[in-house]
Amino acid sequence: MSGSAAPQWTPESWRLKPVKQSPEYPDQAALQKSLAELKKLPPIVHPREIIKLKEHLRDVAQGKAFLLQGGDCAELFDYCQQDAIESKIKLLLQMSLVLIWGADKRVVRIGRMAGQYAKPRSSPMETVDGKQVPSFRGDILNGFHLDERELDPARLVKAYHHSSATLNYIRAAISSGIADLHRPLDWGLGHVRDPELKAKYQEAVNFLTDMLRFMHTIGADKTEKLDTVDLFTSHEGLLLEYEQSLTRLLDDPTAFPHGSKKEYYDTSAHFLWIGDRTRQIDHGHVEFFRGIANPLGVKIGPTTPTSDLLELLRTLNPDREPGKITLITRYGAGKVADLLPAHIRAVEDSEYKQTVVWQCDPMHGNTQSVSGGIKTRRFSDIFSELQQTLRIHKEQGSYLGGVHLELTGDAVTECMGGSEGLAEDDLSTNYTSFCDPRLNEKQALELAFLIADHYRQ
Ligand code: PEP
Ligand code: MN
Repeated sequence: MSGSAAPQWTPESWRLKPVKQSPEYPDQAALQKSLAELKKLPPIVHPREIIKLKEHLRDVAQGKAFLLQGGDCAELFDYCQQDAIESKIKLLLQMSLVLIWGADKRVVRIGRMAGQYAKPRSSPMETVDGKQVPSFRGDILNGFHLDERELDPARLVKAYHHSSATLNYIRAAISSGIADLHRPLDWGLGHVRDPELKAKYQEAVNFLTDMLRFMHTIGADKTEKLDTVDLFTSHEGLLLEYEQSLTRLLDDPTAFPHGSKKEYYDTSAHFLWIGDRTRQIDHGHVEFFRGIANPLGVKIGPTTPTSDLLELLRTLNPDREPGKITLITRYGAGKVADLLPAHIRAVEDSEYKQTVVWQCDPMHGNTQSVSGGIKTRRFSDIFSELQQTLRIHKEQGSYLGGVHLELTGDAVTECMGGSEGLAEDDLSTNYTSFCDPRLNEKQALELAFLIADHYRQ
């Protein structure tokens, strides 16, 4: 807990404010039972890890490192499986190698994993086959199948267990060497048709494989630093009942003497973000998160008045800790040039200069529906928003510290374009997302190459 606004804050004070997207549970007794159970369960993450991430993010805010955050739009309990977890870790690792090569900076990795189960919706009800049914709000509240749409508070506890099992396997896989940099990685560039692009990507791959081989030869890959790769977890902090139940008053592990300072840590994940629909300054989500010691993200976009930004920062980070707040910008390729410069100036010309991490989410402003109502995104729009964002930060003298992507390690066909040339007709081939369309492995890696290319020019 910190700052001048803190005295009236309690883990419950959000309940006195209006709360957007708040679920109406049909069975209050079952809800109370689930919350009581969650309160007894151990933290999913440890304060020491949360502090470590905050230190890494301070480096990002100061331009010394780059942040790669990615994962599903809506993680399902069903993704809590060895292959799905491994393919996502491998993809994030592979992308980060490309970014390290390109930007010549350390890369901090955060998965939208191990808890990204709650989804904000435009309406609590939707029409399916002419019938009104409750919308799918993520596995933590209800199921996608029509006979599971009733909100079920027992799912809150299930979410805890699936988060824990996912993170347990992430830790196990990483400490056992899945992230071992000398293992040959499959870079598979066969799909890249454009010869010029292919040559560029091949140059990066040749460099990285040579470097990894060299490090293996001299034994430099045996040091602990290279055998294990940090992967932090994150999700949208949407369900405040859940987040409150996992919020604990714990020792700040960096305080001296030990035990001299306690903070409220949200132990459901290392990093939590406030979504675009719930960031109203006088509402419950901002109230809850202003009392939490974790690093936080806030989504900002076309509906964020410039005047809200400093109020948000003063409320959420009154002590101006560098790296505490990540502003996740998501305007859309057609709007970013009009809106981002004023947002940058509002922050960088204030007392918050160089304290925030500017992160580009080129996904959420570029969603469109094609025939049959399929939700998709064009790779060219995603890249265009990212490229414009990089250019605008350069012009404004600020630092674009990271990207926030919806991606999966599977060969899905949800976003159009990229070097594979996925067209509208291809979308039905393997469209498995129950929420927003994700970049597949090839598209995600290609985006990493394109970012790397920007830095190397
Ligand atoms: C999301 O990240 O999946 C999401 C809902 O984003 P936003 O809050 O930016 O719309
Ligand atoms: Mn999404």
